[in-house]
Amino acid sequence: MSAPTIGIARPRNLERLPDYETSIRRAGGNVVVVDVHREDPTSALEVLNGLLLTGGADVDPELYGERQSRAVHPAKRHRDLFEIAIARLAIERDVPLFAICRGAQILNVALGGNLLQDIPTEIESALPHKIEEPLAEFAHEVNVVDGSLLRRSMNGVLPNQGCRVNSRHHQAVKRLGEGLVVSARAPDGVIEAIEHTGAHFCLGVQWHPENFWHTGEFRSLFEAFVQACN
Ligand code: MN
Repeated sequence: MSAPTIGIARPRNLERLPDYETSIRRAGGNVVVVDVHREDPTSALEVLNGLLLTGGADVDPELYGERQSRAVHPAKRHRDLFEIAIARLAIERDVPLFAICRGAQILNVALGGNLLQDIPTEIESALPHKIEEPLAEFAHEVNVVDGSLLRRSMNGVLPNQGCRVNSRHHQAVKRLGEGLVVSARAPDGVIEAIEHTGAHFCLGVQWHPENFWHTGEFRSLFEAFVQACN
């Protein structure tokens, strides 16, 4: 079987792109970069066997029916709308979807969920969820739900109930979108991963597994995704 073609939503900060590309290629996938400003969601998805949504700025709270708090820095409206549309299409057509950080938040909003607009002002937590540098620095633990797609995808590499993750977010999933369940939480209760129960492979993680390609802690996660795209 030839390698599946995985579309990566081009992040605004292009310095972040190589880690996503390398993670997918090392897991056996071909990469095409989807330019959210030049393509339309329907034709972009048509040529893909799988879709990877990447990190970036905040989803505009207006898109989940809320007023913007002061700590929110929204992405360009066009990016929000493109990514929400292509996420919905991927779920409709059961195209495997792996959504990272902002991507996981897009996935939740695309299905009617909402977000914690700013973790430090909305919940009491002593955990560091926003460590910018270095990219592959473990920040906190996550507890992974038994029997979840996330756990199955990391089979054999999860020592106990969970694992350590990096963390570069100040927002998180709050009310779940339709069809989604929680697959991991941080010890402070913050939702760190979600998945769609009706999909073949639809997973969102709040951390950045792509930054660990050189040490391989999350290689099995990318392998499970690429395998699902085959
Ligand atoms: Mn976190």
